[in-house]
Amino acid sequence: MDAACVNSFFYFHAMTASPEIKITKAVRSRLAETDFNNLQFGTIFSDHMFMVDYADGEWKDLQIVPYGDITLSPACTTLHYGQAFFEGLKAYKHADGSVSIFRMNKNAERFNHSADRLCMPQLPEELFMKSIAALVDVDRDWVPAKANHSLYIRPFMFATEAYLGVTPSKTYKYMVLTCPVGPYFSKPLRVKIETNYTRAAEGGYGYAKAAGNYGGAMLPARKAVEEGFDQLIWTDAKEHKYIEEMGAANAMFVMDGKLVTPSIDKNTILKGVTRDTILTLARDMGYEVEERPIAITELVEGTKNGKLTDAFGAGTAFTIAPIASFSYNGEEYFLKDPAAREFSARALKALNDIRYGVVPDKHGWNYMV
Ligand SMILES: *Cc1c(COP(=O)(O)O)cnc(C)c1O
Repeated sequence: MDAACVNSFFYFHAMTASPEIKITKAVRSRLAETDFNNLQFGTIFSDHMFMVDYADGEWKDLQIVPYGDITLSPACTTLHYGQAFFEGLKAYKHADGSVSIFRMNKNAERFNHSADRLCMPQLPEELFMKSIAALVDVDRDWVPAKANHSLYIRPFMFATEAYLGVTPSKTYKYMVLTCPVGPYFSKPLRVKIETNYTRAAEGGYGYAKAAGNYGGAMLPARKAVEEGFDQLIWTDAKEHKYIEEMGAANAMFVMDGKLVTPSIDKNTILKGVTRDTILTLARDMGYEVEERPIAITELVEGTKNGKLTDAFGAGTAFTIAPIASFSYNGEEYFLKDPAAREFSARALKALNDIRYGVVPDKHGWNYMV
């Protein structure tokens, strides 16, 4: 751990009378030397991190410590068999200086769905929320105050047992890191519709934010980038005829004036919190919403007959990332100029207004720290 620890710590009592978090503060903050005008996603970490260990059926020793390296057995199940998964959410600074975390309970729920699928222990929802609220509170000065900026929060769990047998580990670690971030993309995306490689199949674990899903996606994604694309859109494993989702965002379209997105009932698609949020906001705005299979040919047709008027990726890291064009079977199809799209502009404004506390939070999505 960081040599720059203070030995005197204090105890933090969060929310309810559950186990306390021991807080060891960094001797010196890195805040002053951080360039908030140049935040590359996931490269700058705030001063502290949260961690807790699981053994004998219990989460023990809740700690917030200075951000730094940890030690691991080289035989741990994580490194060999990928018993690891993560979450991603964000904290926002409001004009009055207060800080909110967006829909944290949804991430807590999904965290445990991922844990379940990977034979890893459940993390009590209360512990998930408390760990994040306490960490964001300790590092609240790291939440950027600039427009379209936020503090990205990365909770994750991984196996720690030193055992090479292919069975679930007996011990685990749950940690939380945070990173100040700005907009993920600076321009609308050229995407490739992937029809060779598969991200997730029915019966697999595409719905879990499991580390293995992302390692396996890197080669196809790199190929797409080498071909000049920014991102790819996955298609179904069986026929490669239907749209699934993007690398770390759900795919959404406006066709015939309706908001349309692939259904999630086959468990191959990540159940995005942003997806759910946009669907809710769309209904609030009076749009008709459809969750159903979307054939690639439907999108191709839509660009030709003008019925496809909006297309974007929706995710916590990406926010709403407009799709400029998509490529299918070597042909590129261009959509309406992103600057002239009505739905995504309205949805983004509605979303930002809630997250930055500009309008009343009528759905109760903001957790105030
Ligand atoms: C995280 C993620 C999303 C978006 O989920 P949010 O909860 O909106 O951040 C979508 N697809 C994949 C594959 C993801 O990993």
